[in-house]
Amino acid sequence: MRVTNLNLHDALKQYFGFSKFKGLQEDVIKSIINKEDVFVIMPTGGGKSLCYQLPALIQEGTAIVVSPLIALMKNQVDAIRGISEDEGIAHVLNSSLNKGDVARVMNDIKRGVTKLLYVAPESLTKEEYIDFLKTQKISFVAIDEAHCISEWGHDFRPEYRNLKNIIKRIDNVPIIGLTATATPKVQEDILKNLGITNATTYKASFNRPNLFYEVRPKTKDVEKDIIRFVRRFKDKSGIIYCLSRKKVEEIAQVLQVNGIKALPYHAGLDGKTRAKHQDMFLMEDVDVVVATIAFGMGIDKPDVRFVIHHDIPKSLESYYQETGRGGRDGGEGHCLAFYSYKDIEKLEKFLSGKPVAEQEIGHALLQEVVSYAETSMSRRKFLLHYFGEEFDEVNGEGADMDDNVRNPKKKVEAKNEVKILLEIIRDTKE
Ligand code: ADP
Ligand code: MG
Repeated sequence: MRVTNLNLHDALKQYFGFSKFKGLQEDVIKSIINKEDVFVIMPTGGGKSLCYQLPALIQEGTAIVVSPLIALMKNQVDAIRGISEDEGIAHVLNSSLNKGDVARVMNDIKRGVTKLLYVAPESLTKEEYIDFLKTQKISFVAIDEAHCISEWGHDFRPEYRNLKNIIKRIDNVPIIGLTATATPKVQEDILKNLGITNATTYKASFNRPNLFYEVRPKTKDVEKDIIRFVRRFKDKSGIIYCLSRKKVEEIAQVLQVNGIKALPYHAGLDGKTRAKHQDMFLMEDVDVVVATIAFGMGIDKPDVRFVIHHDIPKSLESYYQETGRGGRDGGEGHCLAFYSYKDIEKLEKFLSGKPVAEQEIGHALLQEVVSYAETSMSRRKFLLHYFGEEFDEVNGEGADMDDNVRNPKKKVEAKNEVKILLEIIRDTKE
């Protein structure tokens, strides 16, 4: 089928109600329609889903979408069903379906009405499904959250490793990988493991110019520091991340005692309480949520003005994801991390119980966190460099939005230290 620019925009309007493509979406979609293998790297919220949904809807056949989370798949399927009279336009194939459900899904695919078939990677290993899909017209296979294929990613899933062979068995169709993790190592792993090293790659910038990055030494006064900081943001929303549930409860209490409207959030609270606290945050009945990393997936509060890390996270990917929840509306988001080497040692200790390969990777990721925390250069440049992106620390967008750039550490001091060191070395040699 011939697709012109005009009907791409029409389809965008008709199916999604948007009048403009976001970022690189249009180019990605054109490549997919052009039957290229495509690799898409965009930060969370960048609009990756539409990159495969739109071409799936306007092309012949069924697009297979591999996604790791059942909840996310269900959301997407519900959204897509909303745009069509025929429910069969999108389906999920997973272990929760009974025989009758599966028969219906297969029938809709055969009828040619199913444009998007969401599957969990483990379901795709079922011979029965592979044999069936082999006989159908498949437009392409999209692998969402493709970093799950890499041990260097933050969410490794071994089942992702089989995908390449399974896809080959189904059909020789274009493969689309999508991820928000942009470290060069993960990127390389994805391309290699999906067998698409020649894929057309689209990478959006990971720069968040409206986020201010700051690292402070963590002392015994950290709680006072946090209270003082939060008070500057009266009636504004913020998130405070802690490593342990116990710390979450402690800090939430300390804030409450100090007249700050704060609530805890962690996986130890029952579902009802968690939902209540999250809603109160969204409705602004409380200003601050103190949380473990259990908080955040799918949270889309646009005006989060600060993200504090009471404990430094285990990787810069995590740090970027968690701070990324600040300033979604484009207004300033202040990202403050408290850092002490003791916390790194604690994280190292967690690692020691893990398999050796995991330990090595965890250790390397932690070293990057240390370097970030201890650097005296532009933190934005450091973060973006970590994601394989060059940043002009003088003219780049948001260049002055970090502590190191605003208040450079005095070079003289460093020079003096080197001089003293050299003297010591000389003295010890003599
Ligand atoms: P990602 O998977 O990259 O994190 P999503 O696909 O979930 O991002 O999209 C993030 C948000 O952006 C969604 O709310 C989506 O509706 C919106 N969005 C996507 N494309 C557009 C567009 N062209 N115009 C406006 N909003 C868009
Ligand atoms: Mg997504």
